[in-house]
This record gives sequence, structure tokens and C-alpha cells, in this order.
Amino acid sequence: MTRSERYRHIIDYFTEHRPVAETELVYGNTYELLVAVILSAQCTDKRVNLTTPALFKRFPDAQSLAESSVDEVFSYIRSISYPNNKAKHLVGMARMLVHDFNNEVPSDVNELVKLPGVGRKTANVIASVVFNQPTMAVDTHVFRVAARLGMTTGAKNPLQAEKQLVSNLPDEIIPIAHHWLILHGRYVCLARSPRCGECGLTSICLFYQKKLKTDALKPPTASKKKSEQKAKKPVSSAAKKPTSSKK
Ligand code: SF4
Repeated sequence: MTRSERYRHIIDYFTEHRPVAETELVYGNTYELLVAVILSAQCTDKRVNLTTPALFKRFPDAQSLAESSVDEVFSYIRSISYPNNKAKHLVGMARMLVHDFNNEVPSDVNELVKLPGVGRKTANVIASVVFNQPTMAVDTHVFRVAARLGMTTGAKNPLQAEKQLVSNLPDEIIPIAHHWLILHGRYVCLARSPRCGECGLTSICLFYQKKLKTDALKPPTASKKKSEQKAKKPVSSAAKKPTSSKK
């Protein structure tokens, strides 16, 4: 199978099985999405979604967040991972938005990464989700699923994976492909125990094919051997003989 056939197969599969794929973060505008994505680093979307309603109520825009203090923001996000750093980032990000970007979230990845708390992954999410640009945010799910499916080869870090994905996916597919891979990784292709039985991509999955081969070569485990021997063991005639209570 050539690389382009592989990509075609994967795109066709997800187009059919996940025609709608979107971020699970709840937000009402670009500012809120930016805040939510910053908070979601090393944290689940579910946890972020529990935290943001009160935060957005108190800080409905960059101006109100910029005028706040790190301590106050911390009190709203204390249940999120790394609340100290994230509180600092949020206030710093809001101040920069107000002072340097005229209160507007920039659409350009190179501008976005200037904001405190915004790395390449976050910038790519904003550029892709809000501005529909062909940028691929590579998080742990995207990195793992793309490698298992053979969409990336030998990528050692998210940037290498991002470059391979972007150069092989059609531009118009990139924004949705990001969500396909995240959702597949979150619900089917789990890190420790992928649910291959529920996955329709086994026929082309490199990880699955390798696992099949490895399992076939593995010597049977002690318990497996025991149960095989038990199954083969003929039933003894004594055991077969019906017992009689009369002599
Ligand atoms: S077959 Fe298994 S390892 Fe491969 S993508 Fe599907 S769930 Fe992941």
C-alpha cells in the first residue's frame, strides 16, 4: 500500500464514520476558546468545561482578565492541573492581547505563539478551529494514532509528526483530520489498551498488524498451556462409570 493509498483509506473511513468532528471544549467566542485551550494543557476537556463557566462569567473578555490579578484567576482554576502557571499565563496573555493586539486574537500562528501560555500546539488549534487554516495541532492522541496508522514514519517529536501530516493531507481536510485523530485516540485507540475490536482500520493499521504477528509468535502462557492440556485430557473410564448405591 502506498502512502497516498493509506491516507486515502483513512480519510474515506473517517469521512464515513465521523462526518462531524469538533473540539469538545465549550466556548462562545475566540477569546474563550483561547482561554479553554490554554487550560486544557495536561488536563481533560471535561475538567476544563467544568471550570470555564464561572471563569467566563467573571472574565467575559480579554479586558476584564487583563485587569485582574494572578491570585484571583487562580481561585477560579484551582481544580485544573498546573493552576499557578496557567493563572500567570492567562493574565499575561490577556494583557498582551489588550496592549499589543488591539483586543483581537491573532489568526497567524507566528503571532499567536508570542502570547504567554500559547505554544505551537495551542496556536495551531486556534488557527485551525477558528480561522479554518490548514494547521495541524499534534497532541499526544494525534501523535500516537498517526504513528500507529502509519500516517507518520519515525517522527520523534510533535513537530516532525505535524510536518508529515500537513504534507500528506489535503489542506481542506487538515482541520477536521485533527479532530478525527484526537477523538479516535480518546475513545478507541487508547494509549495502553487500544480497542482494536471496535476499530474499522485494522486492515491497514501497522500497530495492529505487528501485534497480530507478535501474538502469533508468543509461546503460550502457563495458564493457557494448562487449559489446553485440560481440554485434551481424555475423561477416565472411572470417572465415566456411573456410581451405584446398591452392591
Ligand atoms: S486497529 Fe487498534 S491500534 Fe490500530 S488504529 Fe485501530 S484501535 Fe488503534
